[in-house]
Order: sequence, then C-alpha cells, then structure tokens
Amino acid sequence: MKKICLFPVRKPASLISIIVAALSTGFVAAAPGFAEDTVVPGGIYIWPVPPEADKVRFGNKPVMVYQQHAVVGIPIKQPVGPARLTYTHQGQSRTHTFTVSGKQYSEQHITLENQNMVTPPEETLVRIRREASRQRALYNQQLPSQDLSAGFVKPLQGITTSLFGHQRFFNGQPRNPHSGLDIAADTGTPIQAAANATVSLADDLYFNGKTLFLDHGDGLVTMYCHMSELLVKEGDRVVQGQNIGKVGTTGRVTGPHLHWSVSLNGSRVDPLTFLAEFNSLVKQAGR
Ligand SMILES: [Zn+2]
Repeated sequence: MKKICLFPVRKPASLISIIVAALSTGFVAAAPGFAEDTVVPGGIYIWPVPPEADKVRFGNKPVMVYQQHAVVGIPIKQPVGPARLTYTHQGQSRTHTFTVSGKQYSEQHITLENQNMVTPPEETLVRIRREASRQRALYNQQLPSQDLSAGFVKPLQGITTSLFGHQRFFNGQPRNPHSGLDIAADTGTPIQAAANATVSLADDLYFNGKTLFLDHGDGLVTMYCHMSELLVKEGDRVVQGQNIGKVGTTGRVTGPHLHWSVSLNGSRVDPLTFLAEFNSLVKQAGR
C-alpha cells in the first residue's frame, strides 16, 4: 500500500511554504471583510456606509445602519445578480450596487394531522389575512434604536429541527419557504429575549400560535412562535436574556418547539447567518 504524505519528507516544508500552498488551494479563509462575503437570498449584506451618507434604502425600504454599516436583509425571493442600495450624500441621490449569488435550499416534507392547518376553513380566512397584514405592518415599522452593543443571543438552547429557507410541503402541498429557525425543547422550557427590545405584539395567532414580536429598532424585529405561555405583554421593554415565554405547541406544529425568525427591512433572513454577521459587526465596532 502506498504511503500518503502531506509534505515531502526529505525536505521539510517551512511554515511559509505551507501557508503559500494553502493559499494557492484556497484552503485559508479570505481576510475578514464583510464586503467580500457571499450575499445570498435570505442572507445579509453588510456595507460600510460612506461618511456623510444618509437615508440608505433597499427596495425602497429604510435599511438599518449600525456603527456606520448598513445591515441589509436580502429577501429569500431576491433574484440572483446585481442588487442596488440607494442613499443620499451631501444632498445628492446615489446608488451602490452589489451582487447576490444563488443558494439552493433543500426541501422539507411535513405531515400534519390537522388538515385545517394545511387548508384552513373558509371562516378562518378573514382572521388569517388580518393577522398577516398586522404582522407585515409590524415588520415594516421603524422604532428608535435600542442598545444592541451586547449583540444577539440564541433565545433557546435545544435541538435544531428545521433550518431557514427549506422549501416546504405540508401533506404534499407546496407552501412558502421556512421563514425561521426551529428549536425543539420540552413544553414549558423558558425562552429568552435575543436582545434588548420593545414588545410590539403579544397575541395568539392562527398559524403561529402564542407569539411575540420583539422590536429592536431601525426595522430589526425578532419573532417567537408556538409558545405555551407568554410572560410579557405588548408595550413592555425587555432586556437581553429576560424570560419572555415558554416552549409550547400552539398553532401549526408537529411537536413542542420555538419558531424563531429575524426580520430586517421587512424581509425574513436566516437567523444563524444574522447571529454570526451581526455579532461580528458588534465585536468589530467594539474594538
Ligand atoms: Zn418554523
């Protein structure tokens, strides 16, 4: 059998030659720099805003600017190719173009015993539409900035049962892509606020069950669904790590879990990407 050597034995490789070899094969990650990261539908684009630039917008919606960086939510249905931010600079309208790359999200097939959660009965449609438009309005709301200098934390430790972006089929019928992250834990397990916020919704919704919206200001909203109990009410100010509710099975579920979603400039984005990118921005700004 042939022996496999990573480096020539007779002539030991110096550290520099190892690094050069690694670089030439693309083994070493690119130097940190948000602009170099790949931007995908359902992801985030972080852009260092030029000094004196103002009113950054994407798809005509205001974009969050944190520590002089635009934090742009990319809709999951965003076409691949060039995308444009608009802003004003010394009174002039400007644009900044960046590229959105493709991402293949996998399929997920789910069986629900309650057919009313797949094809809701006629009499519930008015309620469902009313709830959808209320949630949309809250996602698009612009509240004042909160102190986010501690970054964001995962609201529940548990088993990840579904990732963001799965193409979903309920009892064989295609539905919208999964708009959040599912974390399973026992019913009654406490759920924590991901960051400082104001509670903008605390209600029992048809599909989402007992739900909270936490508004972190500047169009950044996190949502917590399917809870058994809500521990805060609309208008409350919450701090990071505060218990806000308990894991449950309310709404469209197959078992006890938290559906957690993150919304930026009116678009739901991958919560895991958001945690990594936003926390890295906070860390960089804190240096
Ligand atoms: Zn979910």
